[in-house]
Amino acid sequence: MSVVGVLALQGDVREHLVALAEADVLARPIRRPEELAEVDGVVLPGGESTTISRLLETFDLLEPLRQRIKEGMPAYGSCAGMILLADQVLDGRADQHQLGGLDIVVRRNAFGRQVDSFEAELDFTGVGQVHAVFIRAPWVESAGEGVEVLARVPESAEAGEAAGRIVAVRQGHVLATSFHPELTGDGRVHRLFVDMVRSAG
Ligand code: GLN
Repeated sequence: MSVVGVLALQGDVREHLVALAEADVLARPIRRPEELAEVDGVVLPGGESTTISRLLETFDLLEPLRQRIKEGMPAYGSCAGMILLADQVLDGRADQHQLGGLDIVVRRNAFGRQVDSFEAELDFTGVGQVHAVFIRAPWVESAGEGVEVLARVPESAEAGEAAGRIVAVRQGHVLATSFHPELTGDGRVHRLFVDMVRSAG
């Protein structure tokens, strides 16, 4: 059975562990490099990217995690996790580290300039209609040619500036969403990621 780790330094770790277990993999929290070495894929949870970034250094996980992602280990980031996987961040902190792996520019707290959180129905390529919960979420400001756009905020009056923004992407073995499928009990995005882990193995 595949083993999928959830980076467990800060954020909604438990919700991801539950969603992964329901997708029939062995789900484990990761806090140490030895634990990272044992997993076939990793989930970077929602939380606070600046805090997770700082703790990655403290726990000596920044370089090992960067390296594994570079070598092709599947990774999925929700919200703060998307920020960490982006090659470039706007409105970040100057000392915030990127794991990289996704050729995207994300804008941190992008929706938060208007509202702290909101919900929307999205068409998610390969998954279907998804009820998405956004909490001080980033959006993808721009994506490189190798990046597949999987979902956008639908055009509607109440979406305002968020209308049409990219909120789910995939580039090869790296998947990211601005929103939190781990909070809605809808296992389909985690199952998509688990399929990526299985086909990489
Ligand atoms: N605003 C947070 C950050 O910058 C992300 C919020 C979230 O993960 N729900 O990391």
